[in-house]
Amino acid sequence: MSHLTVVVPAYNEGESLREFHARLVAVLDQLDLASDVLYVDDGSGDDTYAVMESLRAGDARVATLKLSRNFGKELALTAGLDHVDADAVVVIDADLQDPPELIPEFVRWWREGYDVVYGTRSTRAGESRLKKFTSAAFYRVMERLSSTPVPRDTGDFRLLSRRAIDALKRLRESQRFMKGLFAWLGYRQKAVVYERDARFAGSSKFNYWRLWNFALEGITSFSGAPLKVATYVGVFTALLAFVFALFVLGKALIYGDAVRGYPTLMLVVLFLGGVQLMALGMIGEYLGRLYMEVKQRPLYLIDEHHAAGSLDPSHPGDATAR
Ligand code: UDP
Ligand code: MG
Repeated sequence: MSHLTVVVPAYNEGESLREFHARLVAVLDQLDLASDVLYVDDGSGDDTYAVMESLRAGDARVATLKLSRNFGKELALTAGLDHVDADAVVVIDADLQDPPELIPEFVRWWREGYDVVYGTRSTRAGESRLKKFTSAAFYRVMERLSSTPVPRDTGDFRLLSRRAIDALKRLRESQRFMKGLFAWLGYRQKAVVYERDARFAGSSKFNYWRLWNFALEGITSFSGAPLKVATYVGVFTALLAFVFALFVLGKALIYGDAVRGYPTLMLVVLFLGGVQLMALGMIGEYLGRLYMEVKQRPLYLIDEHHAAGSLDPSHPGDATAR
């Protein structure tokens, strides 16, 4: 029988966890799969870990993982995924904003052969207009700048197949924008639309400052566009400077050098300014390449490979394991 693990990162979710676990277990009980739950305590300051431990004491399917301090959701999630050896994993928030009742549908699509099944929010209850607007703006910018298409209105709530988890484990970059990494995997991905509920208890751990940094993280890890800005600004300024320099020179030649030294001084300043910006841009380009190399992402992932002469009607991917 195949095996499903649910990974739940939690930071100060002591108030929600029991309710969450009850709802989750009710869903898992209906699945015809062996299942368990891995709670990851991301250095909470409240009783989150104590609640996790009491859940573990009462339920043999519960495992817990406690990080040494708060590392942020992306790393808590990574730690959880690193500790999973199931055939599939579901990632879900502990605050009941992602309904556990959707898991059976995720599993259905996984059995159909999808490697990544993610929840896309049709509505976002309990979120302000400003948050909806900023989030829409973020996805738009991301779509423009990044060659990895990150699906809109999609959080981390998703199911990953074994090979998707294994591939994800090969992405060891330390600046981790998980939604981008999930999208980077490719394979067969499926969106399931759902209505996002309001938080069960407590408040969001992501204020605007954190969200802004998160957005910068996403854009800078999946696009070199900001680095190219220096190049374009440099070339543009250098061109303008060149035109202006010709103008100053022409004026000096026709009308004479009224303010002694001004034309030559201006020429030198403009020329050097333009050259410097272009040089900076060039350094930016190399820095961008260096940055891509340093991440040491695998160069590609293979979906299927059929050797010549193997005539058995093999199933794609690891679908046979389901
Ligand atoms: N979370 C975490 N570490 C953090 C912040 C959040 O593990 O540093 C968890 C949190 O407990 C929840 C999930 O990540 O299970 C989503 O967080 P939150 O609900 O605050 O984000 P939002 O739904 O507002 O985007
Ligand atoms: Mg939430």
